[in-house]
Amino acid sequence: MAEKRDYYEVLGVPRQASPEDIKKAYRKLAKKYHPDINPGDKNAEAKFKEVNEAYSVLSDEQKRSNYDRFGHAAFDGTGSGFGGFDGFGFGGLDDLFETFMGGAFGRGRKSTRNGPVRGRDIQYSIDITFEEAAFGVTKEISVTRLQTCTKCNGTGAKAGTSPENCKHCQGTGQIRYTQATPFGQFVNVKTCDVCNGEGKIITNPCEACHGKARISKKSLISLSIPAGIDDGQTISLKGEGESGLRGGLAGDLYVIIHIKPHEIFKREGYDVVCDVPISFTQAALGGEIDIPTIDGIIKYTIPEGTQTATVFKLKGKGIKRLRSNSRGDQYVRVNVEVPTRLTQKQKDLLRQFAEISGDEGLEQKKGFFEKVRDIFKE
Ligand SMILES: [Zn+2]
Ligand SMILES: [Zn+2]
Repeated sequence: MAEKRDYYEVLGVPRQASPEDIKKAYRKLAKKYHPDINPGDKNAEAKFKEVNEAYSVLSDEQKRSNYDRFGHAAFDGTGSGFGGFDGFGFGGLDDLFETFMGGAFGRGRKSTRNGPVRGRDIQYSIDITFEEAAFGVTKEISVTRLQTCTKCNGTGAKAGTSPENCKHCQGTGQIRYTQATPFGQFVNVKTCDVCNGEGKIITNPCEACHGKARISKKSLISLSIPAGIDDGQTISLKGEGESGLRGGLAGDLYVIIHIKPHEIFKREGYDVVCDVPISFTQAALGGEIDIPTIDGIIKYTIPEGTQTATVFKLKGKGIKRLRSNSRGDQYVRVNVEVPTRLTQKQKDLLRQFAEISGDEGLEQKKGFFEKVRDIFKE
């Protein structure tokens, strides 16, 4: 076999030719060498093949760039998208159709509609409480989905009957037809419009599903939510989506978890964070305070002289980690509350307190203002 000619040479265009130029050159040559215009001319037939092959590469941006870099080697063997030109099969003619018919044919030709179809996946979202997320919970969720019709077992045909092969397409779901073009007649394939590509016709449809083989039904599904799940995480339930068609697998159900905000607790990963108010006497004197945890209220002793915004860590009081038995921690920030609406007696006592601690208080203030001066000196 002779050496392959350069594709640009075949189409008679320069290497930097625009896609439009390539298309124009191709149309001209395809017309010139078309077998219908040159019946029995072996030379024209060979040229026509060559022109088609060149065009199939140069009209495809990716293939063209591969060809520019590697030449014909880019398409040797089976590694590339272009596995040789097989004469006047559909492979070559599709290109012609795409060129002249605006791509309306050829695409989707291989997708038959009469095989098994997997059911679609379903997405569902659910709101749970902070505690439910922390400890895990089982929920019944109500999902409306297409399910195989039990009356006809998914055939779509009335009980006692069954779908028949479509006579129009002999059960293939496809029709071959002849298309007239400026170059003559071409055979192409389209989806059978009698059976819609199904290959089968239901003469007596099932009353329950009207021949659709599936019915939209509400189902209660038990959803087990593990302890430790976080906001935005998804639980997938395999096979709980829509039923498939013609024996296809069912889709999956994806449940997205939303955790409702809690009044007291915030979550940071597996740690729990909360603010707890304490009185200024508790802060000053120290002592036992009540702290809410996800397990209930616990007693906790804070030291004397606790400052506002001090954070205490309660080890292991956080949320259970997914796939582990360990728990996060709880961080408690105490906020010292200054009393309002004091009684006369309380005010008197506080004034007394102020008098007694006057010197100390002054010392503390002096220290603070000296520090401020030092900062602004520089
Ligand atoms: Zn049915
Ligand atoms: Zn048909």
